[in-house]
Amino acid sequence: MNAPDSTRTAGAVTSIDHWIDGRVVPGQSGRSADVFNPATGQVTGKVALASSAEVARAVASAQAAFPAWADTPPIRRARVMFKFLELLNKHRDELARAITAEHGKVFTDAQGEVTRGIDIVEFACGIPQLLKGQYTDQVSTGIDNWTMRQPLGVVAGITPFNFPCMVPMWMYPVAIAAGNCFVLKPSPLDPTPSLMMARLLKEAGLPDGVFSVVQGDKDAVDALLEHPDVKAISFVGSTTIAQKIYETGARHGKRVQALGGAKNHMVVMPDADLDQAVDALIGSAFGSAGERCMAISLGVLVGEAADKILPLLAKRTQQLKIKNGTEMDAEMGPIVSKVAHERIAGYIGHGVNEGAKLVVDGRSFQGAKAGAGCDNGFWMGGTLFDNVTPDMKIYKEEIFGPVLGCVRVKDLAAAVQLINSHEYGNGVSLFTRDGNTAREFSRRVQVGMVGVNVPIPVPMAWHGFGGWKKSLFGDMHAYGEEGVRFYTKQKSIMQRWPESIGKGAEFVMPTAK
Ligand code: NAD
Repeated sequence: MNAPDSTRTAGAVTSIDHWIDGRVVPGQSGRSADVFNPATGQVTGKVALASSAEVARAVASAQAAFPAWADTPPIRRARVMFKFLELLNKHRDELARAITAEHGKVFTDAQGEVTRGIDIVEFACGIPQLLKGQYTDQVSTGIDNWTMRQPLGVVAGITPFNFPCMVPMWMYPVAIAAGNCFVLKPSPLDPTPSLMMARLLKEAGLPDGVFSVVQGDKDAVDALLEHPDVKAISFVGSTTIAQKIYETGARHGKRVQALGGAKNHMVVMPDADLDQAVDALIGSAFGSAGERCMAISLGVLVGEAADKILPLLAKRTQQLKIKNGTEMDAEMGPIVSKVAHERIAGYIGHGVNEGAKLVVDGRSFQGAKAGAGCDNGFWMGGTLFDNVTPDMKIYKEEIFGPVLGCVRVKDLAAAVQLINSHEYGNGVSLFTRDGNTAREFSRRVQVGMVGVNVPIPVPMAWHGFGGWKKSLFGDMHAYGEEGVRFYTKQKSIMQRWPESIGKGAEFVMPTAK
């Protein structure tokens, strides 16, 4: 399996195509987009952008593969997943290198991303157990009632740039194991890992057509949303697009789970272990350059915690090891794109204009300091603000970059009120040594995923991932048992065998006899 990496010959540009019917299919729309190595700013690939005809071809291939795959016994589908799991473990570092080369996140973090995706494949290996229905014997004399869960058909996933392996793996292992055929539309910013995973699935024995990749942008997404044979859409990305996908998908009669953006708070109580809290804030605000939906972008410092913690945060922000992600000791890599870099710098400017106190300014960081060949990459240092207030743009909006804003509040009640008034509700974290404070906080906070002395509380594979409020549209969370429910429909069967069928028609509502 070939993985591009930052050692790829300078100037070499790879063509990144679709995967349909178990093979690479070159783009035919005549449209493509540049793929960059964010560390160097070089164009390393040209990704095809699918037309609606190319999307239709992928969906037709998936539709053709569906009857046989849906009829394959779950245990045999699980065996494909077991083989896939083995291959993923073998190729984990190649996948991680490909992520670093196109996304920019540091290699060790990319390894972690692949591992968290692998968790979901392990979960999907248990699909026979997960698909077990329910059975009630003797609901009436001689009659039993039981339920089964059946796959939907062709389902699609539309995924963001920030986890090019893990987020697709929140979706397709569960969807495929449950008997569906899956069409993935990855982000055009880092499309290569999707093709690597497609090759591994084929090697694992997955029949052609069960997993396809259409590279593309809005055109491909619109084609998936409108295609009558696509029965469900899983989306992860920014809130504006998530809401649009939810509404359009529902209008076209599809199931939709659409996970949106985030603005995650971390509350530090005065009784917390402050060193631990500083580590947690620095790692979760600046890891992956803040480009995580579970990144902490707001520190909520309660009472005297603020004055104690801010000097420590300032020092640590200035000391971040910002390097090419291929360096093993790098803590933070570049920003994914020039456009994202400009957006983040713009937000820092807004923060200053709105009166927040700029403690550390990451805008002046130069790529040359990140390593050889990085002069033209999309580099930025960590930024720290104090005295952020809820009316500010940098408080309200998702920046999605290495910017940590700190808000000072007087007590826990004020912290909870602040968080509950925010329009996002993805993740939140509390640092304290007091069990009752933690319990009260967990019960009262209006956020989908809560960490107690844990900064990025991404639920494990069998628990399911999902935020509240504008961080999720639809009712089913990704993966876990809710993922299984999302990708299957329940059928209820009421059965009675001929010997026990009573004589004569019944005209009244059947009741237990
Ligand atoms: P994005 O919304 O720009 O793109 C997501 C996907 O939608 C991509 O595949 C993209 O090609 C497609 N897309 C973009 N514009 C579109 C349009 N106008 N119409 C149809 N499709 C369109 O998001 P991104 O920048 O790739 O990723 C970052 C965002 O994703 C952040 O907001 C982050 O919080 C969010 N995110 C959320 C979660 C979560 O679980 N809630 C997880 C990861 C990322």
